[in-house]
Amino acid sequence: MSLDGAYERDNIFAKIVRGEIPAARIGEDEKTLAFMDAFPQSRGHALVVHKTSRARNLLDVEQDELAEIMNTTQRVARAVRRALEPEGIMIAQFNGSAAGQTVFHLHVHIIPRWRDAPLGRHAGGAMGDMNELNALARQIAERLER
Ligand code: AMP
Repeated sequence: MSLDGAYERDNIFAKIVRGEIPAARIGEDEKTLAFMDAFPQSRGHALVVHKTSRARNLLDVEQDELAEIMNTTQRVARAVRRALEPEGIMIAQFNGSAAGQTVFHLHVHIIPRWRDAPLGRHAGGAMGDMNELNALARQIAERLER
């Protein structure tokens, strides 16, 4: 998929937003949703999406929607820090398949990092254990602040 193209309403994140498929949900507000990446690159790898935007990537998105996504990204990254005490946090976002994007509904990755834990493969590693992902989502949710 190139940078251009139509938004696909049945992409996997749209289905998660609509509650049609399960996800380890961290929390949501009127505009955005945070949930655990199902194929985590590190312990605590989370994703933030907009619930109503039809942007496929950063280049498509309305500026107010982008601000809403980034505000939530900061809130969730702070909660990840409080909950998991990583040594660093990587914020990542990919545009177009040539850049590594695999799901064409704009999203931001929050990837906690520890010096002695190598980064897992992007969108190619093992599926996380759902009980563990749900437990991490609860831990992070407990440390979310407004
Ligand atoms: P990207 O490659 O930047 O488009 O990121 C897509 C991300 O979605 C990858 O990190 C995948 O591991 C993750 N992913 C794929 N399917 C699911 C799913 N059903 N629930 C949660 N995360 C998913």
